[in-house]
Amino acid sequence: MDRKENLKQLQDSDKIWDVAVIGGGASGLGVALDAVSRGLSVALFEKADFAKGTSSRSTKLLHGGVRYLAQGDVFLVLEALRERGRLLKNAPHLTRNQAFIIPVYTLWDRVQFSAGLKMYDYMAANLSLGSSRYISKEETLRRMPGINSKGLFGGIVYHDGQFDDARLALAIAQTADHAGACILNYTKVAALEKDAAGKLCGLQVQDLLSKKKYGINARMVVNATGVFADKILQMDNPEAPKTIQPSQGIHLVLERDFLGGDDALMIPKTRDGRVLFAVPWHGKLVVGTTDTLREKAKLEPEALQKEIDFVLETAAGYLTRTPTRADVKSVFAGLRPLARPKEGSTKTKEISRSHKVIVSESGLVSLTGGKWTTFRKMGEDTLEYYPKITGVKLADSTSKDILLHGFTKSIPDGHWGVYGSNARLIQDLAKADTSLAEKIHPDFPNIMAEVVWAVRHEMAIKVEDVLSRRVRMLMLDAQAALDSAKKVADLMAVELNKTPGWIEKELEDFQLVGEKYLIKPKGS
Ligand SMILES: Cc1cc2nc3c(=O)[nH]c(=O)nc-3n(C[C@H](O)[C@H](O)[C@H](O)COP(=O)(O)OP(=O)(O)OC[C@H]3O[C@@H](n4cnc5c(N)ncnc54)[C@H](O)[C@@H]3O)c2cc1C
Repeated sequence: MDRKENLKQLQDSDKIWDVAVIGGGASGLGVALDAVSRGLSVALFEKADFAKGTSSRSTKLLHGGVRYLAQGDVFLVLEALRERGRLLKNAPHLTRNQAFIIPVYTLWDRVQFSAGLKMYDYMAANLSLGSSRYISKEETLRRMPGINSKGLFGGIVYHDGQFDDARLALAIAQTADHAGACILNYTKVAALEKDAAGKLCGLQVQDLLSKKKYGINARMVVNATGVFADKILQMDNPEAPKTIQPSQGIHLVLERDFLGGDDALMIPKTRDGRVLFAVPWHGKLVVGTTDTLREKAKLEPEALQKEIDFVLETAAGYLTRTPTRADVKSVFAGLRPLARPKEGSTKTKEISRSHKVIVSESGLVSLTGGKWTTFRKMGEDTLEYYPKITGVKLADSTSKDILLHGFTKSIPDGHWGVYGSNARLIQDLAKADTSLAEKIHPDFPNIMAEVVWAVRHEMAIKVEDVLSRRVRMLMLDAQAALDSAKKVADLMAVELNKTPGWIEKELEDFQLVGEKYLIKPKGS
């Protein structure tokens, strides 16, 4: 992916793109991937970095959603299970089969959870990742040494998918880019262009690095801006009603030995009736989440003290060692772009988590809601509106069979896995220049060659792009990421031909962002 080359494509003011996508998170990337799979020309604009918003802040599960099944949303679960299967096949380097254990405390727990999970197995059919089964108390304790044995009856094991969200976003962006899409980060859509009949015909975009503006012609414009969707809808029509209700979910990252073993813990019903996961991820344990209504859409939402308390208290109820604030290596918050409930209702649990495609009078197509797991299907469903908007026939979607960038059947070991077939090329960089074999941080396996790779091939522009979304250090250990910033900035400055002033500004910017991931003392 070459940002400069992609920007050059915008200079042709006569070019008409078949599809222009606003937003480079899971939704927008899903649209771009499906559009290229149908032979359409596509330009995608992301105002920050790919997956900077909600799409790097998920629980990292590819799941049908056991809790949606409990809510009776069978169609949503079936669709997600199908997509889970496809993604495990098309991106085996970024996804994996994860075993979960639900602790069982009563006979009734055993009966109801076993029945629900058998249904889940049945729905996954030949895409099942392994049958659910009841395990004894002894086996539960052996597999999860950190689980509190008090009152424990046994456990139920089931399987779901797990993935690296920001790196999957990048792989989709790269796949679409290699297939001909013009994919750009740090490029903001500032205005929508309409023809004399009031129909959308293009966009005004601005490269936020050079501040240069471009006029883009497009047959179909897709608003895939997640929690920011209303801003684009109101750009289109200042009278447009609000459609999105942001709901915040936070995660705390702990050392993995709080739970031990390789299995993830799933608590189906917390004290306030929600689901809590503790999932091993890149050598740590990610614990979450919450569901707190928020009014404002933000790119960098912050965890509330009460959310942190809730996650710590709930986790403490199931673990032998009580996690405290001092044990939290990183805290991150994300906003779910839920469909706004009807006037008067505030219960987000009852708001549908399936996606919606809304077509405005101007022809603006907005894709809202949904989940990471179904990003591809969301893209496919959105493209189905293309003939209606443009009057032009549409080829069949082939996105379900596209192997994603880095695909390989022999997944490299350890942290190299996420790079798939590119791992060897990064290792070659370190062989050619041994200074690049140095670790970014002593506690992490990542090496400096990954920084070079991120700048050269993954469109990393800022220190945060590298430390948060190319290697995931900011989300895994915020202090380690802050401590690594100078080293990363120095090398990026060489690669990007930047001045000492750039390094200074980058370090200031990263400090401001990074501090948000450190847990704050109570009462601050
Ligand atoms: C706490 C939490 C946990 C979750 N866990 C899971 C999970 O385990 N599994 C799962 O399947 N799903 C999960 N989800 C859901 C999933 O993460 C989201 O559905 C998905 O990431 C939303 O992607 P999006 O592209 O719609 O939004 P975003 O990722 O927010 O992307 C929208 C993008 O639009 C950009 N943008 C906005 N305005 C403009 C503009 N004017 N010009 C250009 N760009 C613009 C933003 O910068 C942003 O990057 C979770 C969500 C949350 C909040």
